[in-house]
Amino acid sequence: MKQSFLFTKTRREAPKDEVSKNAQLLIRAGYIHKEMAGVYSYLPLGLKVLNNIENVIREEMNAIEGQEVQLTALQDKNKWEAVDRWDDKNVDVWFKTKLKNDTDISLAYTHEPAITVVMKDYITSYRDLPQYPYQFQTKFRNETRAKSGIFRGREFLMKDLYSFSKTQEELDTFYEKAIVAYKNIFNRVGLGDKTYLTLASGGSFGSKYSHEFQTLTGAGEDNIYIHKGKNIAINDEVYNDETLEMLGIKKEELIQDKSVEVGNIYKLGTFYSGPLELKYTTSTGESKEVIMGSYGIGLGRVMGTIVEVLSDEKGIVWPESIAPFKIHLILLGGKDDKAKNYADELYKKLSEKNVEVLYDDRDARAGEKFADSDLIGIPYRVIVSDKGMEAGKLEMKVRKTGEIQSITEEELFTL
Ligand code: ATP
Ligand code: MG
Repeated sequence: MKQSFLFTKTRREAPKDEVSKNAQLLIRAGYIHKEMAGVYSYLPLGLKVLNNIENVIREEMNAIEGQEVQLTALQDKNKWEAVDRWDDKNVDVWFKTKLKNDTDISLAYTHEPAITVVMKDYITSYRDLPQYPYQFQTKFRNETRAKSGIFRGREFLMKDLYSFSKTQEELDTFYEKAIVAYKNIFNRVGLGDKTYLTLASGGSFGSKYSHEFQTLTGAGEDNIYIHKGKNIAINDEVYNDETLEMLGIKKEELIQDKSVEVGNIYKLGTFYSGPLELKYTTSTGESKEVIMGSYGIGLGRVMGTIVEVLSDEKGIVWPESIAPFKIHLILLGGKDDKAKNYADELYKKLSEKNVEVLYDDRDARAGEKFADSDLIGIPYRVIVSDKGMEAGKLEMKVRKTGEIQSITEEELFTL
C-alpha cells in the first residue's frame, strides 16, 4: 500500500483522556479510533493486525479439529433464563434491549447457551460426538472499568470455541490439546516467553479450577504467582494452601507479578447441557448429558498486550507474524526522479511477489518519515535514497533491534 493513499495519519499526541499505553500508541499511529471509553474502531492498519491475529488463531483451532461458525450477536432471553443467568444479579455486564413488540432480548456477552441449542439440532447419538465449533464474534459487556484501552472493551472480538464430549475423559484429552494449541498461538504472536498457563478459579461452572493464559505486564489487572521451574502460574484468586498442596509447590518458590489474561479455558461439565437438555444416546442405549468446555481468546486484548509488552520509547514493535506489513519502504526524495523511479519499481516487484509493503512515497522530510516509521512499527525499514543508489545498496533497519544493514536488492527478496 502506498502511504500517500492511507487515509490515516500519525499524530504526536494521544487523546488526553486515554491513559493506557496500548491505546495511546495505537491511536497515535492510526491503528484504532476511540468511539468512547472501551469502544474502539479498527482502521486499515489496525484491521490488518487484527486479521493476522485471527488467522493465527484460526490455523491453530482448525489443527485441533475446530469447525468455524458464526452465531448471532442478538440473543434470546429464554435460553439465558433456562441457565439462570438472565437476572442482573447473576450477570453484571448485560446489555439488554427490547424488540418493538416488547420482547426482551440481549446483546451477546458470551455464547454458551446459544451454541448448546444449535448443537441440539445435530447431536443425538454417541456417533455425533465429539464436536468443536468455534467462531470469531463480537461480545458486548457493560464493563464498569474500561480504562485499559483495547484490553477491556465494552464491545470486543473474541475467539470462542466450545467442546462437546461424551465423557469427562474425552473432555480432559481435548483440554490438553487446547492448552498446546493456545501455547502455539501465544508463541506465534510473540508473547510466548511472557505468557504462563495459570491455574484459576472455575467460577460458577461446577469445576473447581479453570486455566488462564496470563501475560506478564505492568498494565495488567491480575496478580499471579509464577513457578519458573514448572513454567506455570497461580492466579491470586486461588493462591491458597490447598492449591499449593495440589501442585507440591512451596511459597518460596513463587514470584508474584502483574499480568493480563489473554485467554482462558474452562471445563463446563453439564452446567449448560443439563438445563438446556443437550443429551446423547450411548452405544448401550442410555441417555446422557453432553460434557462441555469453553475456550476463549480476546483478539483486541492480544493485540493490546503485544503493544504493551513489545513497544519501546519510539513506538510500536510488531512481530513479523502479525505485522500489518513486513517491509516499510521509504523513499527519500532526491533532486531528480532517479530514486523515486527505482523505489516505484521496487515496490511493484515486491508486491508482485506478495511481500506486504507499506511504501512511504509521501513528500515529507526524512526525520518525519523515520519518526512515523518507528511509531507504526513495521519489522523491516528499507530506505531508497540518492546516496544509496550511488552505492548500489539499500539501507535496511530492523525495527526491533535498531540494527542497520546495507543490503542488495537480491538480499531484500530473501528476507
Ligand atoms: P476478565 O477476567 O479479564 O474480565 P473474563 O474472565 O470475563 O475476562 P472470558 O469471559 O472468559 O473472560 O473471555 C475470554 C477471553 O476474552 C479473555 O481471556 C480475554 O482474553 C478476553 N476478554 C474478556 N473480557 C474482555 C474485554 N472486556 N475486552 C477485551 N477482551 C476481553
Ligand atoms: Mg477472567
